[in-house]
Amino acid sequence: MTILQVALDVPLPRLFDYRLTGESQGSLIGRLVKVPFGQGVKFGVVVNEAATSDHPDAKLKSAELIDNLPALPADWLALCQFCARYYHYPLGQVMAFALPPLLRKGKTPRITKPKHESAVPPAPTFNTATPDQAAAIDAILGATGFQTFLLHGVTGSGKTEVYLRAIAAVLERGGQALMLVPEIALTPQLESRVSARFPGTHVVSAHSGVADAARARAFLAALEGRAAIVLGTRLSVFMPLPRLQLIVVDEEHDASFKQQDGLRYSARDVAIFRARQRDIPIVLGSATPALETFHHAASGRYTKLDLPLRAVAAAMPTVTTIDTRKQKLQDGLSAEMISAIGERLGRGEQSLIFLNRRGYAPVLACPACGWISHCRRCAANLVLHLADRRLRCHHCGLEVMIPHACPDCGNLDLQPFGRGTQRLEASLVERFPTARILRIDRDSASSPQKWQTLLATIHADGADILVGTQMLAKGHDFPKLTLVGVVGADAALFAADFRAPERLFSQLMQVGGRSGRAHLPGAVLIQTEYPDHPLYRALIDHDYAAFANEQLAERQAAGFPPFAFQALLRAEAPEIAQALEFLGTAVARAEELGAPDIMLYDPVPMRLVRLKNRERAQLLVESRSRPALQNFLAGWMTRLYACKTPRELRWHLDVDPQEF
Ligand code: ADP
Ligand code: ZN
Ligand code: ZN
Repeated sequence: MTILQVALDVPLPRLFDYRLTGESQGSLIGRLVKVPFGQGVKFGVVVNEAATSDHPDAKLKSAELIDNLPALPADWLALCQFCARYYHYPLGQVMAFALPPLLRKGKTPRITKPKHESAVPPAPTFNTATPDQAAAIDAILGATGFQTFLLHGVTGSGKTEVYLRAIAAVLERGGQALMLVPEIALTPQLESRVSARFPGTHVVSAHSGVADAARARAFLAALEGRAAIVLGTRLSVFMPLPRLQLIVVDEEHDASFKQQDGLRYSARDVAIFRARQRDIPIVLGSATPALETFHHAASGRYTKLDLPLRAVAAAMPTVTTIDTRKQKLQDGLSAEMISAIGERLGRGEQSLIFLNRRGYAPVLACPACGWISHCRRCAANLVLHLADRRLRCHHCGLEVMIPHACPDCGNLDLQPFGRGTQRLEASLVERFPTARILRIDRDSASSPQKWQTLLATIHADGADILVGTQMLAKGHDFPKLTLVGVVGADAALFAADFRAPERLFSQLMQVGGRSGRAHLPGAVLIQTEYPDHPLYRALIDHDYAAFANEQLAERQAAGFPPFAFQALLRAEAPEIAQALEFLGTAVARAEELGAPDIMLYDPVPMRLVRLKNRERAQLLVESRSRPALQNFLAGWMTRLYACKTPRELRWHLDVDPQEF
């Protein structure tokens, strides 16, 4: 009798044995099965076949073969196994995450015709590649097997053009290409650019905005080799692609490639594993590569390709700091900033004022007694949203009406403190009453439709001043935008997270890169109390390498990644003491293992200690050696899974954590 070892969506790091009802034709590895489990049934994937089981034959229940899905290919199974091993997450849960929900439940999506089959293919116009682009394309296409490229190109240098040409060559060879992009906001633009470029080619997109049926169809199209290009956010790294020949990760530094719950994977890192597994090239593109990536390129592990010049614009925008210590600001804006906006208005050009804080003000306070608007579920303040008269928690979503008097002392004169995009918008409306002002943040662009409408307005020349958060920082090309003003960025210079400067630098470089992308020269003005800070100096010089090298030297001295490898064990419970107690137990289990190359820090409460009424603590584990860390984690997890924990306690492991 054949025993099927099945991966099931349960939080246990093991497989489950079943026997097959009836005869099987050949191997069943990779097939979906329906099995009895506990009181109910579950769907799972056959991972192994064995001749015997540890369970007595009579106790083995039988599995039913499901026909909605062809066998998942061996390399897809190996990819899931890699993630289970590396992130120490149960294989069945990795697969449940990687499979579209419909298919995983044994359902078959209705087949529809691909939409562009009947359309008349538009005739795409091709630019001639610049010499730098041509060199990059040649290098990528010249790869004979696994090779990781860092395409380091300034904003507007034509990186996308390089990807598209490399993809074109891959399609000509009969291959499939996978292109990963950051979260949803950018995909519609890119989708139309790609479809226009490859008329008649079956392009599928995969992101969280794609409906279940479409997602299942895309998965099948990729698996059966009908789709030649898969374009999508981090999730699409799990698309099965039998003829995969090239992977592109655009904006590879972007934080959205790391998932922050469940399977805490980095799609960029998984993509690199996948390229190695398939022995194919992978291109990581960015204007501000992650320091890890830059470090690997410097050491020769990755091949660096440079696009130092903009493709269309004559020059990079000029970057200038405005020293705000020496003047009184008017509604948070300096005289220079106000007159620079005024000049753009006079010339009919666009300005973008970047403030990465949404809402009207970060807190509402009572000057009489010191009351401030706290979230009752989190260790955080409620943000004042005047636009819809609410106080809102940006961590848990709690909403309350704005009190008309202080809840503690009855004072009627409550005051907003600090400034968010709504307040900035209001003061700009007052100062420039005839200008068309558009605020763009997650509140004004709360749905994909609203976001598309806002973008269309900007493109149709329907806005003079944009006020926005980082939503606007990425990828967009607004030809008339010639001024980017940055306000309120200083706080991030001194944040506690060692990655904060890296994030700030890349954010400012990206948002500054929106300025002067076409034929009009661009300017970036940064209001700051620290005009001589090295981070701002590097921005002024457009010198990513100087900034990166300085940061890397600091990290090396401090023993931070990429010079060390980390994992975080996090626990949460109604009371912080319970969370800390579990982490204490975890330390004891770790010490039993006696791993000499591993550094265990003390369990500490998280910075945002309470979230949604649960209190959180974490424990950092670090090693100079990735294999040593992985080895240790494997033994440690086995022990932790065996621990009895109180029902209300939850814990998880985050390998290569990005946020602390
Ligand atoms: P990036 O991805 O580096 O920000 P894009 O690929 O979006 O840059 O290119 C920026 C702009 O330059 C786009 O409008 C693009 O059409 C144009 N462009 C890119 N390469 C060329 C080229 N070789 N000749 C002319 N225009 C180009
Ligand atoms: Zn009060
Ligand atoms: Zn809250």
